Amino acid sequence: MDDTSTSYCHYSNNKKESRLISVEDLKKGILFAMKENLMIQFVYPDFELPQEYKEVINTIDHSDIVSSQCKDEVLRNNADIIIFNNWKESESYKIKEDGIYVIRTSKSELFENHSLLSKILPIAKRINVVITNIDSFDENDFEKYKEILSSLSKETEELYVDGKTPQLNLLTDRMMLDKMNNCNSGDENITLAPDGKFYVCPAFYLTDDDEDYGLGKSKFSIGDLENGLDIKNSQLYKLSYAPICRNCDAYQCKRCVWLNRKTTYELNTPGHEQCVVSHLERNESRELLVNIRKHGMFLPEKEIKEISYLDPFDVRKEW
Ligand code: SF4
Repeated sequence: MDDTSTSYCHYSNNKKESRLISVEDLKKGILFAMKENLMIQFVYPDFELPQEYKEVINTIDHSDIVSSQCKDEVLRNNADIIIFNNWKESESYKIKEDGIYVIRTSKSELFENHSLLSKILPIAKRINVVITNIDSFDENDFEKYKEILSSLSKETEELYVDGKTPQLNLLTDRMMLDKMNNCNSGDENITLAPDGKFYVCPAFYLTDDDEDYGLGKSKFSIGDLENGLDIKNSQLYKLSYAPICRNCDAYQCKRCVWLNRKTTYELNTPGHEQCVVSHLERNESRELLVNIRKHGMFLPEKEIKEISYLDPFDVRKEW
């Protein structure tokens, strides 16, 4: 909706100056989505939108992604997904039983504050923890992350034993999955930005100039409302063209093409850090599944194999 719309994922949005999408482009974007049979998610800035925008938005079925700091209380109270851009915001927020929350956190903030999840996990319908600097993980961080996942796993197990069904993306998603469930931006998801152009995801629109390797911002656009989509090498966004990921079973991994591009300069090739972090989650999900089953029958049809690697690239000769 706006240049200052909240981030809901790995990328940061440092923009301070508002630039709302024009009402005309908003209407055209809705029409485009209707014709292409796409589901719409609106991503909001923290200020209240003009009434004219609200009326256009309400002409179509959609989901709302809103920061916990949004000034529009009605929107915030009815949002589908609430974003916490730091842990402090989550501490003072009234968590709802049917609420879906995203906590965006750096690794160090996660290491310090993960115990705060204990307060939210038993109440919320779902929590997604998104680490904003995965690419900076080193060996010590991997160890620390493993410990944190293990402690969260114990808490989650206890909640299951109490008859609850907490959802924490880091641990419970993989237990439920039989195949890849990635972000799929550029393949199944696209973003219409405030400039009226399409992008693979908001990260590609918001990429700072010093991160674009001199290519210029328009280089990242994948079409516009006048001419439709024009995705160069569109196959590169598909799992079948991702040589490492298609041999992987960390099904809960975001398989973030923006992170891929940032870390390996290849959209379809992940960096080591993304893979290890996802495999630590995958392996702890396996532990959680085994441990919950000690208390009774649970997802009997699901199986997560024991594996010896944390990065599929390391076992590529076996494929
Ligand atoms: S863990 Fe690595 S190889 Fe597996 S899906 Fe994620 S990015 Fe791809």
